[in-house]
Amino acid sequence: MSGFSRRGQMSERKQFRAIKGTRDILPPDSALWNWFEHTAREVFESYNFGEIRLPAFEQAELFYRSIGGETDVVSKEMYYFQDKAIPELEVLREQIRYATILPSVPQTVDHFVRELRKFRQLLDAGFAAGEVPKHDLNVGTSQNLESEANQLQELQSVESSARNNDMISFVASQIKRHVGILHLGEPLALRPEATASVCRAYIEHNMQAFPGNQKLYYIGPMFRRERPQKGRYRQFYQIGAEVLGQSDAPAIDAEVLEMLLVFFNRVGLTRTTLYVNSIGDKNCRPQYVELLRNELRRVKDRLKEDSQRRIETNPLRVLDSKIPEEQPIIETLPRISDYLCDECRAHFAKLKEELNLRRIDYKENWRLVRGLDYYTRTTFEVTAEGLGSQNAVCGGGRYDGLVELLGGAPTKGIGFAIGTDRSILSIEESGNAPKLGGLAVYIAWMGQASYPTAVSIARKLRSAGLSVELPPEEMKFKKSLGLADKLGARYALIIGEDEVASRTFTLKRLADGDQKKLAEGELLEYLESERRR
Ligand code: ATP
Ligand code: MG
Repeated sequence: MSGFSRRGQMSERKQFRAIKGTRDILPPDSALWNWFEHTAREVFESYNFGEIRLPAFEQAELFYRSIGGETDVVSKEMYYFQDKAIPELEVLREQIRYATILPSVPQTVDHFVRELRKFRQLLDAGFAAGEVPKHDLNVGTSQNLESEANQLQELQSVESSARNNDMISFVASQIKRHVGILHLGEPLALRPEATASVCRAYIEHNMQAFPGNQKLYYIGPMFRRERPQKGRYRQFYQIGAEVLGQSDAPAIDAEVLEMLLVFFNRVGLTRTTLYVNSIGDKNCRPQYVELLRNELRRVKDRLKEDSQRRIETNPLRVLDSKIPEEQPIIETLPRISDYLCDECRAHFAKLKEELNLRRIDYKENWRLVRGLDYYTRTTFEVTAEGLGSQNAVCGGGRYDGLVELLGGAPTKGIGFAIGTDRSILSIEESGNAPKLGGLAVYIAWMGQASYPTAVSIARKLRSAGLSVELPPEEMKFKKSLGLADKLGARYALIIGEDEVASRTFTLKRLADGDQKKLAEGELLEYLESERRR
């Protein structure tokens, strides 16, 4: 029980807390989140997008390959872990690693070889079932183990000698080392974003054979180990949409942006700015990146450490720098817009036409390059006010080569991811958050004789779609109404002996104390019409 004390032995009381960078979203805030996500569903579905539900973890390699090993997201922020190995395999490995081998006692060597053969059989079965990763290190090591087992057996069969015994000890120690370096569990990662998963699913389900473009959206948590601060968490939430298919028509980009802004408008996220850029494609970007790298090398001494490193690893990212001293230098660097190939230039021009047609306001920002390697051509970002330096609420762009890079057919793609945490912060700070739902009716019943009526009317009101609180135990009248007030109920429905006798209810509006006596039918009708107001 390493590190944990058994329940029975616990001496001090431990106070558990949410892991740093994660948080609970409690009611009533969660209602705002639900409304935000529900509105996204409505808007996206009106553009004929359908929801894709994805796993929260994937093979780590999916992210290395798509996002890029040099990016911060993968190299610094990704939650990476090795899956648990098949238990028998793990146990056998430990037995082999810690076995006692006495070369002068043949039984110990025989036993060791038998265990090793069993281990190799299980390992092969694990490879075949896809439960043990079949990468070079594992496959090579497994082959070494095979020849080492044979070697041991041969050494066993010849006459025992001091030299022979030394060889047996040597080979056995090699075997122990080799079983130790095998990766028995698959390398996995908590997803830092979901575009790679969408593309993985697109390929896995052969979605290019489905009719038309695939228009998909997803909603869910993402994980990045960043420094937690306002608007930056280690588990955060995104709503994203992707279009995958054979066409890269700029109208697709424009429609995606229109949908995004319609959504932001609908949820009251209005003080926003949309920035767009084109970062070229595989024909023109490499030349530009080389040019940029050369220019950056000339000003290297005037840049800070991060940017200096990025000159070699990812020069485009230098353009993203927010460091004040670097700004005047960056302003003098060559701009991608001057180096786009004809196709990319035409694509970007058409996109801007399409945006104008749809009356979408945007600003061009030549420095908008985005942090993930897979983007091509169109890139965009939306910033919102009231968020300080974490002001990006949405990022996205085209990724035409990504599906192919992941082993699929040539496919065009574009998408975005909205940061829900920050969007909600911004909506709250702007005072645009709607007042949602809340408790409609609190049932103040008194006397056991009125309880059956209270239970029955509670069920009827609830099935009419109202939120109803029915106290489970009898309370004093004053206390009951006091609680109704504190819970923020709009009405208290009073049921006492008089009401039961006269088959009526007293409905009290808590805002102004206005009171009415109503029969059951009238009550339902009245509350129904109130609900619709
Ligand atoms: P930033 O530059 O702010 O780190 P990013 O470029 O890493 O953002 P993307 O990968 O484009 O972000 O993700 C899209 C959106 O997801 C961002 O615009 C932001 O709203 C949100 N987001 C990204 N990382 C976090 C985080 N750690 N906490 C909360 N929201 C985040
Ligand atoms: Mg980031």
